[in-house]
Amino acid sequence: MLSSIKQTDPVVYDLICQEQARQNNSIRMIPSENCVSKAVMQATGSCLTNKYSEGYPGKRYYEGQQITDQVENLARERAKALFGAEAACVQPHSGSPANLATYCALAEPGDTIMGLALPHGGHLTHGWKVSYTGKFFKSVQYELNPETGRLDYDHILEMAKEHKPKILISGSSAYPREIDFSKFDEIAKAVGAYHVSDMAHIAGLVAGKAHMSPVPYADAVTTTTHKTLRGPRGGMVLAKEEHIAAINKAVFPGFQGGPHMHTISALAIALHEAMAPDFATYAAQIVANAKRLAEKLLEYGFDLVSGGTDNHLILMDLRNKGITGKPLAKALDRAHIVTNYNSVPGDTAGPFNPSGLRMGTPAITTRGMKEDQMDLIAGWINTICDNLENEDVIAKCGSEVLELCSQFPLPDTFVQPQ
Ligand SMILES: *Cc1c(COP(=O)(O)O)cnc(C)c1O
Repeated sequence: MLSSIKQTDPVVYDLICQEQARQNNSIRMIPSENCVSKAVMQATGSCLTNKYSEGYPGKRYYEGQQITDQVENLARERAKALFGAEAACVQPHSGSPANLATYCALAEPGDTIMGLALPHGGHLTHGWKVSYTGKFFKSVQYELNPETGRLDYDHILEMAKEHKPKILISGSSAYPREIDFSKFDEIAKAVGAYHVSDMAHIAGLVAGKAHMSPVPYADAVTTTTHKTLRGPRGGMVLAKEEHIAAINKAVFPGFQGGPHMHTISALAIALHEAMAPDFATYAAQIVANAKRLAEKLLEYGFDLVSGGTDNHLILMDLRNKGITGKPLAKALDRAHIVTNYNSVPGDTAGPFNPSGLRMGTPAITTRGMKEDQMDLIAGWINTICDNLENEDVIAKCGSEVLELCSQFPLPDTFVQPQ
């Protein structure tokens, strides 16, 4: 697959090989990342990248859509079947444009939107001030309960009554607990708001029935396709039939031109993979791994936001250890354990050196790691946390990490190491 790159551009070829080696030789625990199958990877590099398909199936602006219409319809139908949705738009180039388009379909600029604040686990596009979603709209942000580290549905209802948002957003990027979408539905109905649910992080868990689905409880559900869902980088909106025309129009021609048909073909494949019975096993194992890792970290005296996890991610609050997230994330990276530093609820340290560390289990679960490997990982994290300045200890952990990675090559159907 890479031989033409080697011939045409040895510089890029070398960089891709280096990145492949980095991915193979590290414990990748950024919770939004994964490893896609070889089939998904190949579709993203297929001839569909050559085609322009502005418009929607049956209503395009250029000829030559005999095949692209079938590809897009297939992706739509599979998305609807997998998630039990009335309608689907598979054209958003990624999660952020999917959100912006959906808000614009359901509200006017200047209307009030209400989402979870970024430092409490919300996404930038849920109305945070540096995102245009926080500038085009009047944004009101709810927060987690400072005592429990959990969503507080009474507080959200109170705020919704006070601010009367046009759109109530559920979903998050750094919340380790199950979200009760039925409660968001009730709150939205109580104040006459549309409920938009962003399941970007958990779409694969929802597909694998390891997390409650937002689909029955939301006017529109937005998602990325490349996180736990394990598809190509992209975005998607599932919606009630009554909203799909407005959402389609907001995506194209509202925000985008031509859809990325190579990505949509890869999404169709990923959705097909997610319908297979082993996908539910994968989703359940992601959660089992995260729970085991959380249990071990608690035993080592780490403080976890909300005290644990119900999903694929863990948010460590390092304030009781007297350190911030960045030096630990950097030291772990030197030992080939890749995580990210993150704000925690009530954080007074700034966003460039916050007090938390976020980690997740999707990519390592795809590689086949299970509870026993989580015990090893928790041990390394603890050792490195106690030895942030000791490069010998970090290097020793690093060589043990490489040994573990060599025992977990990507499964056969996945892209093999170089
Ligand atoms: C990742 C994420 C997005 C944005 O996705 P991009 O593809 O990076 O634009 C949106 N919402 C949530 C909740 C996310 O976690």
